[in-house]
Amino acid sequence: MEASTTVLVIGGGATGTGIVRDLALRGIDVMLAERSGLSSGASSRSHGLLHSGARYAESDRIGAEECIEENRVLRSIAGSCIRDTGGLFIQLPEDDPDYFDKKQAACESIGIETRVLDGNAARNLVPGLSSRVERAMWVPDGVVYPSRLSAANAADAEDHGGTVYPHAPLTGLVVEDGRITRATLGGTVDATVRPQYVINATGAWAGQVAAMAGVDVEMAPSRGVMISVVYDALGPALNRCRDPDDGDIIVPHESEVVLGTTSVPVSDPDTYEEADWEVEKSVQECAKMLPPVAEATEVRTWWGVRPLYAPDEQKSARRGISRGFFVLDHADDGVENFLSIVGGKLTTYRQMAEAVADRICTKLDVDAECQTATRALPGANDPDRLDTFVTHYDAQGPTDADIVTNGAVA
Ligand SMILES: Cc1cc2nc3c(=O)[nH]c(=O)nc-3n(C[C@H](O)[C@H](O)[C@H](O)COP(=O)(O)OP(=O)(O)OC[C@H]3O[C@@H](n4cnc5c(N)ncnc54)[C@H](O)[C@@H]3O)c2cc1C
Repeated sequence: MEASTTVLVIGGGATGTGIVRDLALRGIDVMLAERSGLSSGASSRSHGLLHSGARYAESDRIGAEECIEENRVLRSIAGSCIRDTGGLFIQLPEDDPDYFDKKQAACESIGIETRVLDGNAARNLVPGLSSRVERAMWVPDGVVYPSRLSAANAADAEDHGGTVYPHAPLTGLVVEDGRITRATLGGTVDATVRPQYVINATGAWAGQVAAMAGVDVEMAPSRGVMISVVYDALGPALNRCRDPDDGDIIVPHESEVVLGTTSVPVSDPDTYEEADWEVEKSVQECAKMLPPVAEATEVRTWWGVRPLYAPDEQKSARRGISRGFFVLDHADDGVENFLSIVGGKLTTYRQMAEAVADRICTKLDVDAECQTATRALPGANDPDRLDTFVTHYDAQGPTDADIVTNGAVA
């Protein structure tokens, strides 16, 4: 099959589906190709915390501002793709109290609301919380269900004239006279596509896809483990109040909690070790905040790979690599009609998509405003409809496998 499109988006995680929705709503002819089911990369293999920005407040002000802005947007447009749980930053006796104070001051200066609770008040709020907790800080964290989020973005894109192909891997790009002239899609589509612009939204695989066009994108993918255990009705998300480290976040679902995570560099996002120590350490560390999880029944364990972008000099810093996002215009590398979007977080996917769509509109000389910050996702308040989208796009992943009711678990 031969096809043409104004914009071809490669990668159907939160970022790619956010881009195809944004462009379709601006009236641009757009097609998305994902090699597997939608959201099968980092998005539906993440921890699923809707960041308030508090985690980054004292170390990365811009990243924290992006998070709180998007946290508020998603509360207004994403309905049952998210859950408003709030979150607590927990101080144990071995944690530096100055770090706690610094984080609170940074949150306040950014506009992230906080409320400090003493140990007893925190334990009253969260039954099961460790007797060693000295202080806790409430912040507006929440939970994201990424399968629903990606599928709802894709469904809205198709409702507005876009086309979304799961199980359609990009297998080749042809560059002629400094432009991509053809893209080959395999799988269920098996087509040659003639695109005006190509957007590489393939997360940890962005280096591999860029290489198909002879372009270098320096990724530094990093794996992390999550363990979901049976645990009824934990209220807020729990974050350890210390420099980010292994096993410092517990994400509440209705009858499970998700423990994690680790950060270990990998050279190939498809083939990497899944080490037992990562599971053991994550459970042990999380149990310091919520002791009953050490004995709780494990339901599923999975790894995801972060799409971190790191030019060479930053590669050694394991947790220091930026969680911010970057739009790379490969006109600077000699390929006129090719952009990559790398880095970022699930929480900020919409803002990442807006930045790319703005860039494409400028190139196409299209004068159309972004609508995605104010327009609710389809089915936002109808979980059954959202789950139908998940099934339709084969978007189910382990992050929210206990929540989404009718998808086939990946
Ligand atoms: C362990 C871990 C925990 C995390 N926790 C959180 C969290 O709690 N909160 C948060 O906000 N963020 C979190 N993140 C970060 C977040 O998951 C990612 O930043 C985000 O999901 C990236 O989305 P994406 O769409 O850019 O990439 P992905 O979701 O990885 O999507 C890229 C897609 O490209 C596809 N692809 C690759 N090659 C091709 C090809 N040749 N052709 C077609 N398609 C292709 C892949 O199959 C994949 O689906 C976490 C990440 C990890 C790994």
